[in-house]
Amino acid sequence: MGAPSGTDPASKGVYQAKQQDLGALAVPDTEESELARRLWPERSREGTSAFEYDRQRIVQARSFRRLAGKTQVFTSRDSDHFRSRLTHTIEVAQIAREVARALKLNEQLVEVLALVHDIGHPPFGHAGERALDRCLQAHGLRFDHNLHALRIVEHFENWYAAHRGLNLTLGVREGIVKHSRDYPESQHPELAPFFLGLRPPIEAQVIDLADEIAYLTADLDDGVESGLLEIDHLCTHISIMGRAYQEMQARHAGVDQKFLFHEALQWMQDELTADLIRNTTANVVENGLSSLDDVRIHSARVAVFSTNVEAMRLEEKRYLYNTLYTCPTLVAEHEKAETVVSTIFNFYMRSPDRLPSGYLQESEREGLPRMVADYIAGMTDSYILQQFWMASKLWRS
Ligand code: MG
Repeated sequence: MGAPSGTDPASKGVYQAKQQDLGALAVPDTEESELARRLWPERSREGTSAFEYDRQRIVQARSFRRLAGKTQVFTSRDSDHFRSRLTHTIEVAQIAREVARALKLNEQLVEVLALVHDIGHPPFGHAGERALDRCLQAHGLRFDHNLHALRIVEHFENWYAAHRGLNLTLGVREGIVKHSRDYPESQHPELAPFFLGLRPPIEAQVIDLADEIAYLTADLDDGVESGLLEIDHLCTHISIMGRAYQEMQARHAGVDQKFLFHEALQWMQDELTADLIRNTTANVVENGLSSLDDVRIHSARVAVFSTNVEAMRLEEKRYLYNTLYTCPTLVAEHEKAETVVSTIFNFYMRSPDRLPSGYLQESEREGLPRMVADYIAGMTDSYILQQFWMASKLWRS
Protein backbone atom coordinates (compact mmCIF):
# COMPACT_ATOMS: atom_id res chain seq x y z
CA MET A 1 0.00 0.00 0.00
CA GLY A 2 1.39 3.40 -0.89
CA ALA A 3 0.88 6.70 0.85
CA PRO A 4 -2.80 7.15 1.54
CA SER A 5 -4.42 9.39 -0.98
CA GLY A 6 -6.79 10.56 1.78
CA THR A 7 -3.95 12.35 3.62
CA ASP A 8 -2.41 14.05 0.64
CA PRO A 9 -4.05 17.49 0.36
CA ALA A 10 -3.77 17.49 -3.43
CA SER A 11 -5.45 14.13 -3.95
CA LYS A 12 -7.90 14.72 -1.11
CA GLY A 13 -9.46 17.30 -3.39
CA VAL A 14 -10.54 14.41 -5.61
CA TYR A 15 -12.99 13.41 -2.89
CA GLN A 16 -14.34 16.87 -2.43
CA ALA A 17 -16.74 16.38 -5.27
CA LYS A 18 -19.72 18.69 -5.64
CA GLN A 19 -21.67 18.64 -2.41
CA GLN A 20 -25.33 17.65 -2.56
CA ASP A 21 -24.83 16.36 -6.13
CA LEU A 22 -26.90 13.18 -5.89
CA GLY A 23 -25.59 10.49 -8.18
CA ALA A 24 -27.81 8.04 -10.02
CA LEU A 25 -27.43 5.53 -7.18
CA ALA A 26 -28.41 7.95 -4.42
CA VAL A 27 -31.71 7.82 -2.55
CA PRO A 28 -33.89 10.67 -3.84
CA ASP A 29 -35.58 12.85 -1.22
CA THR A 30 -38.35 14.29 -3.35
CA GLU A 31 -41.90 14.00 -2.00
CA GLU A 32 -42.60 11.26 -4.58
CA SER A 33 -39.71 9.12 -3.33
CA GLU A 34 -40.98 5.99 -1.56
CA LEU A 35 -38.10 6.17 0.96
CA ALA A 36 -38.96 9.76 1.88
CA ARG A 37 -42.52 8.79 2.90
CA ARG A 38 -43.75 8.74 6.48
CA LEU A 39 -46.42 6.67 8.23
CA TRP A 40 -48.35 9.90 8.91
CA PRO A 41 -48.04 12.14 5.82
CA GLU A 42 -46.61 15.59 6.58
CA ARG A 43 -45.87 18.63 4.49
CA SER A 44 -42.20 19.71 4.44
CA ARG A 45 -41.09 23.26 5.00
CA GLU A 46 -39.98 24.83 1.78
CA GLY A 47 -36.28 24.29 1.18
CA THR A 48 -36.02 21.53 3.81
CA SER A 49 -35.63 17.95 2.66
CA ALA A 50 -37.43 15.03 4.28
CA PHE A 51 -34.15 13.74 5.74
CA GLU A 52 -33.26 17.13 7.24
CA TYR A 53 -36.55 16.92 9.13
CA ASP A 54 -35.54 13.47 10.37
CA ARG A 55 -32.16 14.78 11.51
CA GLN A 56 -33.81 17.57 13.48
CA ARG A 57 -36.16 15.11 15.21
CA ILE A 58 -33.36 12.72 16.12
CA VAL A 59 -31.01 15.40 17.42
CA GLN A 60 -33.85 16.76 19.59
CA ALA A 61 -34.88 13.32 20.89
CA ARG A 62 -34.20 12.44 24.52
CA SER A 63 -32.76 9.05 23.58
CA PHE A 64 -30.17 10.88 21.45
CA ARG A 65 -29.16 13.15 24.32
CA ARG A 66 -28.82 10.14 26.60
CA LEU A 67 -26.06 8.76 24.33
CA ALA A 68 -23.78 11.21 26.17
CA GLY A 69 -24.19 9.10 29.33
CA LYS A 70 -23.68 5.69 27.77
CA THR A 71 -20.50 3.65 27.57
CA GLN A 72 -18.73 3.09 24.29
CA VAL A 73 -15.96 0.79 25.59
CA PHE A 74 -14.90 1.93 29.07
CA THR A 75 -17.60 1.73 31.72
CA SER A 76 -15.60 3.20 34.60
CA ARG A 77 -14.91 6.80 33.64
CA ASP A 78 -11.53 7.52 35.16
CA SER A 79 -10.77 9.81 32.25
CA ASP A 80 -12.92 12.58 30.78
CA HIS A 81 -11.42 11.81 27.40
CA PHE A 82 -12.90 8.40 26.60
CA ARG A 83 -15.51 8.30 23.87
CA SER A 84 -19.13 8.10 24.91
CA ARG A 85 -21.78 6.73 22.55
CA LEU A 86 -22.52 10.34 21.61
CA THR A 87 -18.99 11.35 20.65
CA HIS A 88 -18.57 8.02 18.82
CA THR A 89 -21.79 8.83 16.93
CA ILE A 90 -20.44 12.25 15.91
CA GLU A 91 -17.23 10.62 14.66
CA VAL A 92 -19.23 8.11 12.60
CA ALA A 93 -21.29 10.94 11.13
CA GLN A 94 -18.26 12.91 9.95
CA ILE A 95 -16.64 9.87 8.32
CA ALA A 96 -19.91 8.77 6.70
CA ARG A 97 -20.52 12.25 5.30
CA GLU A 98 -17.04 12.35 3.76
CA VAL A 99 -17.73 9.03 2.02
CA ALA A 100 -21.22 10.13 0.94
CA ARG A 101 -19.91 13.36 -0.54
CA ALA A 102 -17.20 11.56 -2.49
CA LEU A 103 -19.66 9.00 -3.85
CA LYS A 104 -22.33 11.63 -4.53
CA LEU A 105 -24.80 9.81 -2.33
CA ASN A 106 -27.57 11.49 -0.37
CA GLU A 107 -25.43 13.14 2.29
CA GLN A 108 -28.40 14.17 4.41
CA LEU A 109 -29.73 10.62 4.62
CA VAL A 110 -26.25 9.35 5.49
CA GLU A 111 -25.93 11.89 8.29
CA VAL A 112 -29.31 10.94 9.78
CA LEU A 113 -28.46 7.24 9.65
CA ALA A 114 -25.13 7.87 11.36
CA LEU A 115 -26.72 9.98 14.10
CA VAL A 116 -29.34 7.34 14.85
CA HIS A 117 -27.20 4.19 14.41
CA ASP A 118 -26.45 3.55 18.11
CA ILE A 119 -29.61 4.96 19.67
CA GLY A 120 -30.83 1.50 20.69
CA HIS A 121 -27.80 0.61 22.82
CA PRO A 122 -28.41 -0.05 26.53
CA PRO A 123 -26.11 1.30 29.28
CA PHE A 124 -22.63 -0.25 29.71
CA GLY A 125 -21.95 -1.01 26.04
CA HIS A 126 -21.93 -4.57 24.79
CA ALA A 127 -21.76 -5.98 28.33
CA GLY A 128 -25.10 -4.30 29.09
CA GLU A 129 -26.56 -5.62 25.87
CA ARG A 130 -25.42 -9.19 26.59
CA ALA A 131 -26.88 -9.04 30.10
CA LEU A 132 -30.22 -7.70 28.89
CA ASP A 133 -30.39 -10.35 26.18
CA ARG A 134 -29.70 -13.09 28.76
CA CYS A 135 -32.43 -11.73 31.05
CA LEU A 136 -34.93 -11.78 28.17
CA GLN A 137 -33.90 -15.25 26.99
CA ALA A 138 -35.16 -16.63 30.29
CA HIS A 139 -38.61 -15.42 29.12
CA GLY A 140 -38.30 -16.72 25.55
CA LEU A 141 -37.41 -13.27 24.15
CA ARG A 142 -34.25 -11.61 22.80
CA PHE A 143 -32.74 -8.12 22.99
CA ASP A 144 -31.37 -6.63 19.79
CA HIS A 145 -30.18 -3.01 19.65
CA ASN A 146 -31.32 -2.41 16.05
CA LEU A 147 -34.84 -3.58 16.78
CA HIS A 148 -34.83 -1.61 20.00
CA ALA A 149 -33.77 1.51 18.05
CA LEU A 150 -36.80 1.02 15.81
CA ARG A 151 -39.05 0.73 18.90
CA ILE A 152 -37.57 3.96 20.25
CA VAL A 153 -38.23 6.02 17.14
CA GLU A 154 -41.65 4.46 16.45
CA HIS A 155 -43.05 4.15 19.99
CA PHE A 156 -41.07 5.71 22.82
CA GLU A 157 -40.23 9.20 21.60
CA ASN A 158 -43.68 10.74 21.98
CA TRP A 159 -43.56 14.50 21.71
CA TYR A 160 -45.64 15.34 18.65
CA ALA A 161 -49.36 16.09 18.68
CA ALA A 162 -50.18 14.54 15.31
CA HIS A 163 -48.43 11.16 15.49
CA ARG A 164 -46.83 8.55 17.69
CA GLY A 165 -43.03 8.38 17.73
CA LEU A 166 -40.84 10.56 15.54
CA ASN A 167 -42.68 9.65 12.30
CA LEU A 168 -39.34 9.20 10.50
CA THR A 169 -39.13 8.44 6.80
CA LEU A 170 -39.20 4.86 5.55
CA GLY A 171 -35.59 5.24 4.31
CA VAL A 172 -34.31 6.06 7.79
CA ARG A 173 -36.31 3.29 9.46
CA GLU A 174 -35.08 0.78 6.87
CA GLY A 175 -31.51 1.92 7.55
CA ILE A 176 -32.02 1.42 11.30
CA VAL A 177 -33.26 -2.13 10.74
CA LYS A 178 -30.45 -3.06 8.34
CA HIS A 179 -27.53 -1.64 10.36
CA SER A 180 -24.78 -4.31 10.32
CA ARG A 181 -27.10 -7.22 9.63
CA ASP A 182 -29.79 -8.66 7.40
CA TYR A 183 -32.83 -10.19 9.08
CA PRO A 184 -34.53 -13.15 7.37
CA GLU A 185 -38.19 -12.42 6.71
CA SER A 186 -39.17 -15.91 7.87
CA GLN A 187 -37.99 -15.01 11.41
CA HIS A 188 -39.13 -11.39 11.38
CA PRO A 189 -42.44 -11.06 9.53
CA GLU A 190 -43.06 -7.78 11.41
CA LEU A 191 -40.16 -6.23 9.46
CA ALA A 192 -41.71 -6.97 6.05
CA PRO A 193 -42.31 -3.24 5.27
CA PHE A 194 -38.52 -2.76 5.22
CA PHE A 195 -37.81 -4.74 2.03
CA LEU A 196 -35.95 -7.54 3.80
CA GLY A 197 -35.29 -9.38 0.53
CA LEU A 198 -33.43 -6.37 -0.90
CA ARG A 199 -30.03 -4.84 -0.17
CA PRO A 200 -30.16 -1.51 1.67
CA PRO A 201 -29.28 1.62 -0.34
CA ILE A 202 -25.55 2.46 -0.36
CA GLU A 203 -26.25 5.27 2.13
CA ALA A 204 -27.18 2.65 4.72
CA GLN A 205 -24.35 0.31 3.71
CA VAL A 206 -21.79 3.08 4.24
CA ILE A 207 -22.82 3.55 7.88
CA ASP A 208 -21.64 0.09 8.91
CA LEU A 209 -18.17 0.73 7.53
CA ALA A 210 -17.96 4.30 8.86
CA ASP A 211 -18.81 2.77 12.25
CA GLU A 212 -15.92 0.30 11.82
CA ILE A 213 -13.48 3.05 10.82
CA ALA A 214 -14.52 5.19 13.79
CA TYR A 215 -14.13 2.55 16.45
CA LEU A 216 -10.98 0.96 14.98
CA THR A 217 -9.34 4.39 15.36
CA ALA A 218 -10.96 5.47 18.62
CA ASP A 219 -10.50 2.23 20.55
CA LEU A 220 -6.74 2.34 19.99
CA ASP A 221 -6.71 5.97 21.15
CA ASP A 222 -8.85 5.31 24.24
CA GLY A 223 -6.99 2.05 24.89
CA VAL A 224 -3.68 3.94 25.09
CA GLU A 225 -5.31 6.72 27.17
CA SER A 226 -6.50 4.06 29.64
CA GLY A 227 -3.02 2.59 29.97
CA LEU A 228 -4.31 -0.82 28.83
CA LEU A 229 -2.65 -0.62 25.40
CA GLU A 230 0.95 0.29 24.60
CA ILE A 231 1.87 2.14 21.45
CA ASP A 232 4.97 0.01 20.70
CA HIS A 233 3.03 -3.22 21.22
CA LEU A 234 0.09 -2.27 19.03
CA CYS A 235 2.36 -0.96 16.26
CA THR A 236 4.18 -4.32 16.26
CA HIS A 237 0.99 -6.38 16.13
CA ILE A 238 -1.35 -4.33 13.91
CA SER A 239 0.20 -4.05 10.46
CA ILE A 240 -1.73 -0.97 9.33
CA MET A 241 -0.70 0.89 12.49
CA GLY A 242 2.90 -0.30 12.12
CA ARG A 243 3.00 1.19 8.62
CA ALA A 244 1.22 4.36 9.71
CA TYR A 245 3.64 4.92 12.58
CA GLN A 246 6.70 4.35 10.37
CA GLU A 247 5.32 6.75 7.81
CA MET A 248 4.83 9.43 10.50
CA GLN A 249 8.33 8.83 11.91
CA ALA A 250 9.74 9.44 8.44
CA ARG A 251 7.70 12.65 8.02
CA HIS A 252 8.19 14.09 11.51
CA ALA A 253 11.64 13.02 12.68
CA GLY A 254 12.44 13.63 16.36
CA VAL A 255 8.95 14.49 17.60
CA ASP A 256 7.38 13.02 20.72
CA GLN A 257 5.67 9.62 20.56
CA LYS A 258 2.29 11.10 21.50
CA PHE A 259 2.30 13.25 18.34
CA LEU A 260 3.44 10.37 16.13
CA PHE A 261 0.71 8.15 17.54
CA HIS A 262 -1.97 10.76 16.98
CA GLU A 263 -0.77 11.43 13.43
CA ALA A 264 -0.66 7.67 12.76
CA LEU A 265 -4.27 7.29 13.92
CA GLN A 266 -5.35 10.04 11.54
CA TRP A 267 -3.35 8.40 8.73
CA MET A 268 -5.08 5.09 9.38
CA GLN A 269 -8.52 6.66 9.50
CA ASP A 270 -7.88 8.47 6.20
CA GLU A 271 -6.51 5.30 4.62
CA LEU A 272 -9.56 3.23 5.61
CA THR A 273 -11.92 5.98 4.44
CA ALA A 274 -10.12 6.38 1.09
CA ASP A 275 -10.14 2.60 0.58
CA LEU A 276 -13.88 2.44 1.20
CA ILE A 277 -14.48 5.25 -1.32
CA ARG A 278 -12.21 3.67 -3.95
CA ASN A 279 -13.45 0.14 -3.51
CA THR A 280 -17.14 1.03 -3.46
CA THR A 281 -16.68 3.06 -6.64
CA ALA A 282 -14.84 0.13 -8.25
CA ASN A 283 -17.62 -2.30 -7.21
CA VAL A 284 -20.28 -0.06 -8.72
CA VAL A 285 -18.36 0.26 -12.00
CA GLU A 286 -17.32 -3.41 -12.28
CA ASN A 287 -20.86 -4.62 -11.64
CA GLY A 288 -22.42 -2.10 -14.02
CA LEU A 289 -24.76 -0.69 -11.35
CA SER A 290 -26.49 2.40 -12.66
CA SER A 291 -29.55 2.86 -10.45
CA LEU A 292 -30.78 2.45 -6.90
CA ASP A 293 -32.77 -0.57 -8.08
CA ASP A 294 -29.54 -2.19 -9.32
CA VAL A 295 -28.02 -1.71 -5.85
CA ARG A 296 -31.15 -3.17 -4.24
CA ILE A 297 -31.07 -6.42 -6.21
CA HIS A 298 -27.30 -6.87 -6.34
CA SER A 299 -25.99 -10.18 -4.97
CA ALA A 300 -23.95 -8.50 -2.21
CA ARG A 301 -23.47 -5.17 -0.45
CA VAL A 302 -21.27 -2.93 -2.61
CA ALA A 303 -19.89 -0.65 0.12
CA VAL A 304 -17.04 -2.83 1.37
CA PHE A 305 -13.30 -2.49 1.91
CA SER A 306 -10.82 -3.95 -0.60
CA THR A 307 -9.58 -7.47 0.16
CA ASN A 308 -6.24 -6.13 1.38
CA VAL A 309 -7.72 -3.57 3.77
CA GLU A 310 -10.42 -6.00 4.92
CA ALA A 311 -7.64 -8.41 6.01
CA MET A 312 -5.99 -5.58 7.99
CA ARG A 313 -9.34 -4.61 9.52
CA LEU A 314 -9.85 -8.19 10.73
CA GLU A 315 -6.30 -8.32 12.08
CA GLU A 316 -6.88 -5.15 14.13
CA LYS A 317 -10.29 -6.36 15.29
CA ARG A 318 -8.71 -9.60 16.58
CA TYR A 319 -6.02 -7.59 18.35
CA LEU A 320 -8.57 -5.33 20.03
CA TYR A 321 -10.62 -8.33 21.10
CA ASN A 322 -7.68 -10.29 22.52
CA THR A 323 -5.71 -7.40 24.00
CA LEU A 324 -8.30 -4.84 25.06
CA TYR A 325 -11.93 -6.07 25.19
CA THR A 326 -11.07 -9.29 27.03
CA CYS A 327 -8.26 -7.94 29.26
CA PRO A 328 -8.79 -8.55 33.01
CA THR A 329 -9.59 -4.87 33.75
CA LEU A 330 -12.38 -4.67 31.18
CA VAL A 331 -13.67 -8.17 31.97
CA ALA A 332 -14.05 -7.08 35.61
CA GLU A 333 -15.93 -3.94 34.48
CA HIS A 334 -18.16 -6.04 32.23
CA GLU A 335 -18.96 -8.45 35.05
CA LYS A 336 -19.98 -5.56 37.30
CA ALA A 337 -22.10 -4.10 34.51
CA GLU A 338 -23.83 -7.43 33.93
CA THR A 339 -24.59 -7.74 37.65
CA VAL A 340 -26.13 -4.25 37.72
CA VAL A 341 -28.29 -4.88 34.63
CA SER A 342 -29.55 -8.30 35.75
CA THR A 343 -30.21 -7.02 39.30
CA ILE A 344 -32.32 -4.13 38.00
CA PHE A 345 -34.14 -6.44 35.58
CA ASN A 346 -35.07 -8.80 38.43
CA PHE A 347 -36.00 -5.86 40.66
CA TYR A 348 -38.61 -4.53 38.21
CA MET A 349 -39.88 -8.00 37.39
CA ARG A 350 -40.64 -8.42 41.11
CA SER A 351 -41.83 -4.84 41.66
CA PRO A 352 -43.54 -3.80 38.41
CA ASP A 353 -45.53 -1.11 40.25
CA ARG A 354 -42.25 0.85 40.48
CA LEU A 355 -42.05 1.17 36.68
CA PRO A 356 -43.07 4.52 35.17
CA SER A 357 -46.82 4.39 34.49
CA GLY A 358 -46.48 4.36 30.69
CA TYR A 359 -44.31 1.24 30.78
CA LEU A 360 -46.63 -0.44 33.26
CA GLN A 361 -49.65 0.19 31.00
CA GLU A 362 -47.80 -1.11 27.94
CA SER A 363 -46.79 -4.27 29.80
CA GLU A 364 -50.42 -5.42 29.62
CA ARG A 365 -50.09 -5.52 25.84
CA GLU A 366 -46.45 -6.49 25.35
CA GLY A 367 -45.68 -8.43 28.53
CA LEU A 368 -43.68 -7.34 31.55
CA PRO A 369 -40.22 -8.71 30.53
CA ARG A 370 -40.19 -6.73 27.27
CA MET A 371 -41.24 -3.51 28.99
CA VAL A 372 -38.67 -3.90 31.77
CA ALA A 373 -35.98 -4.45 29.12
CA ASP A 374 -37.18 -1.39 27.17
CA TYR A 375 -37.03 0.74 30.31
CA ILE A 376 -33.53 -0.48 31.22
CA ALA A 377 -32.23 -0.10 27.65
CA GLY A 378 -33.09 3.61 27.75
CA MET A 379 -31.07 4.25 30.93
CA THR A 380 -27.68 5.94 31.02
CA ASP A 381 -24.81 4.35 32.96
CA SER A 382 -25.23 6.78 35.88
CA TYR A 383 -29.03 6.37 36.03
CA ILE A 384 -28.91 2.58 36.19
CA LEU A 385 -26.26 2.81 38.93
CA GLN A 386 -28.60 5.07 40.94
CA GLN A 387 -31.35 2.49 40.41
CA PHE A 388 -28.98 -0.25 41.55
CA TRP A 389 -28.22 1.53 44.86
CA MET A 390 -31.92 2.25 45.36
CA ALA A 391 -32.83 -1.42 44.73
CA SER A 392 -30.03 -2.65 47.00
CA LYS A 393 -31.29 -0.36 49.82
CA LEU A 394 -34.89 -1.51 49.39
CA TRP A 395 -33.89 -5.16 49.41
CA ARG A 396 -31.83 -4.66 52.57
CA SER A 397 -34.64 -2.88 54.44
MG1 MG B 1 -21.49 2.42 16.50
